[in-house]
Amino acid sequence: MKVLKFGGTSVGSAERMKALGPLINNDVPKIVVLSAMSGTTNNLVEIATALYAKKNDKAKLLIDNLESKYNEVINKLYTTSSALSKGKGLISSHFDYLRSFTIDLFTVNEERAILAQGELLSTALFHYYLEEINTHSVLLSALNFMRLDEKEEPDMKYIETSLSAELLRHSDTKLFITQGYICRDAFGEIYNLKRGGSDYTATIIGAAINAEEIEIWTDIDGMHNNDPRIVEKTHPISELSFDEAAELAYFGAKILHPTCILPAQMRNIPVRLLNTMQPEAKGTLISSKTTNDSIKAVAAKDGITAINIKSGRMLLAYGFLRAVFEIFERYKTPIDMITTSEVAVSLTIDNTRNIDAIEKELKEFCKVEIDNDLTIVCIVGSFAAEKQGYAMRIFDALKNIPIRMISYGGSENNVSVLVDTKLKKDALNALNKGLF
Ligand code: ASP
Ligand code: MG
Repeated sequence: MKVLKFGGTSVGSAERMKALGPLINNDVPKIVVLSAMSGTTNNLVEIATALYAKKNDKAKLLIDNLESKYNEVINKLYTTSSALSKGKGLISSHFDYLRSFTIDLFTVNEERAILAQGELLSTALFHYYLEEINTHSVLLSALNFMRLDEKEEPDMKYIETSLSAELLRHSDTKLFITQGYICRDAFGEIYNLKRGGSDYTATIIGAAINAEEIEIWTDIDGMHNNDPRIVEKTHPISELSFDEAAELAYFGAKILHPTCILPAQMRNIPVRLLNTMQPEAKGTLISSKTTNDSIKAVAAKDGITAINIKSGRMLLAYGFLRAVFEIFERYKTPIDMITTSEVAVSLTIDNTRNIDAIEKELKEFCKVEIDNDLTIVCIVGSFAAEKQGYAMRIFDALKNIPIRMISYGGSENNVSVLVDTKLKKDALNALNKGLF
């Protein structure tokens, strides 16, 4: 079985939904994972924000506007009156549900229920469309099998058992449709896999059913060697290893959810990135295969804060780093990059929620300096330690860019440099010229 995931733009209009028909209508057994129509999750976030602020009139207006958009979509999507009336019924029930929150108490659970409506709508509307063109499919509710454990990690045992039970119930069916992004938490409440999480749904499902391949369909022809929004001449990378793809997704390549590679990698299931606008393009194949030493791509992650920590006592002292890391651990703040010298350590974080408390505790035993608005530029490839020349090529390309931190050697797949965000564009362009 294959898993095919289509993102928000791929289901973003009636035309786009219709264009999916030929891509999924063949004999290959598959589970199709859909995002919400593009823009919908943002609109739902706005609605929830208005409800939190008790701006119920504003929320009602936003809900009405979104509902009209959906009614326009179905007018273009369906041709038969029976599909149209089913679509209308579906839309009214979801939007009446949204309107019910303008009357009742509003908490984080209601917010999560609101955020789930986009994927519930897109999958049901698409399922009706398939029905209309006489393509048999079964709509599976992700809320029946997708579940997180107490640590907010996918509960793979539960997912495997519940999903295979659902599939067995329809053993004569080749085409299943389900929602990306939405799931339940360990207590059974509606939850989600964070923004962009439909990719993660696809790889979790792929791992759970041991799929032969996971296809992530977007509106770009694969992972590019540099950020195409910033740099002019970029090209798609034909093959990446799981490790390289994970580094790129984590360090800013917007095409993939940061943690979605892991489930596929754990079960060694190839992930193919493909383009709905250009289905014949090769895209990017992510697999366990490692190609020999080469620089594959550059990505950038903004919103980075650097913390420089100096201690007179670090000289010949031990236990200093442990004391530092313990503080970050206690405040559940992940560290991205680290460099140390004998008397100082610099590290970067992107979650600054507890920065004030962390700073206060660090200041009890060392000097602390904090810098904001930084960007990690990450150069990804396979740099086996014994080969030489990579560092020279990277730093030669960056010779005119002031560098705040360098990290090399942590993995064989990543060289990271920290620069001022204002210099990101220059750094990405300089690397593009110097490396590719
Ligand atoms: N609809 C969700 C979002 O916009 C999930 C996804 O598209 O992957 O973030
Ligand atoms: Mg996405």
